[in-house]
Amino acid sequence: MINLVSDTLTKPTPKMLEYMMSAEVGDDVFNEDPSVNALQNRVAEMFGKEAALFCPSGTMTNQIAIKINTKPLDDVICDIDSHIYQSETGGYAFNSGVAITLIQGSNGKVTANQVESSIKPGFDWQPISRLIVLENTCNKGGGSFYTLDEVKPIYDLCKNKGLKMHLDGARLFNALVETGESPQTWGSYFDTISVCMSKGLGAPVGSLLIGDKNMIKEARRFRKVMGGGMRQAGYLAAACDYALDHHVERLKEDNNRAKMIGEVLKSLPYVKTLKPVHTNIVIFQLQDDIKDLDFIEKLKAKGILAVPFGGNTIRFVTHLDISESMVEQTCKLLKEI
Ligand SMILES: *Cc1c(COP(=O)(O)O)cnc(C)c1O
Repeated sequence: MINLVSDTLTKPTPKMLEYMMSAEVGDDVFNEDPSVNALQNRVAEMFGKEAALFCPSGTMTNQIAIKINTKPLDDVICDIDSHIYQSETGGYAFNSGVAITLIQGSNGKVTANQVESSIKPGFDWQPISRLIVLENTCNKGGGSFYTLDEVKPIYDLCKNKGLKMHLDGARLFNALVETGESPQTWGSYFDTISVCMSKGLGAPVGSLLIGDKNMIKEARRFRKVMGGGMRQAGYLAAACDYALDHHVERLKEDNNRAKMIGEVLKSLPYVKTLKPVHTNIVIFQLQDDIKDLDFIEKLKAKGILAVPFGGNTIRFVTHLDISESMVEQTCKLLKEI
């Protein structure tokens, strides 16, 4: 089976497992796991920030970010397709007691003008606009990404209006291998950044929240109250460390392979629309007379696994465990349907 369901499906490579087994560990709730501490320092430094916090998931790092950047009755601004709105169980309301203002962006991306017109004037009866969350790459936007030139005007606006900025950078490295931009410059534009290690980078578990020392100190408390304080987590941190050493550059291959699939889909009669393919995600809409679930079954019969992604669309994601020949095979099979 060629499994294009998600880049979260990657399994640790034998070398990663070997590296994990040799990790030095301690109790991270007492701050005594050397591998976790080393990873946190490494990632903080990479983004030019003071500190970072290792968490079990990207949902947790995003939820903690919303918590430490807001107060109850504040308002968060984001694109309507954002993971924090679509895929985190409404946690912004539950964990942080905040309202949300949604922007209908373009393939998951918003502009400074759209953000500006979403800021509330501050009447007593309104939640207070406090935080903007950008996602890079945009999952539901088909893997589209922001460049720093696009983020700069949003940053200037937020600075001017006193708004905080959080980046959901679950797949940030998939964008950075395309743009050549540095994590450090990205770090300078945001109060907090979340990055996932368990997507295309291939670690089994883990995300990091990055910010200044005081915010990360507070973040530790919220990680604990969410039940995310882990003990000998150094084995997992070691996998992330290995991924940062060996699996960042190769994300370019995933992006190129997704583009290959996109090129083939473009000309196939059952495809109604295809979102521009920029990174490792391919999203296409089927012609009206074809049902997504039927199409998924047809793919399965050919040996390809994928998920329906809403609105009669299908999503493919390329990743560490999808080889060049599997992509060639996929392209061939797609033409046979
Ligand atoms: C996967 C993902 C997350 C975090 O997901 P977890 O499964 O909780 O680690 C956050 N944001 C985006 C855009 C994602 O794709």
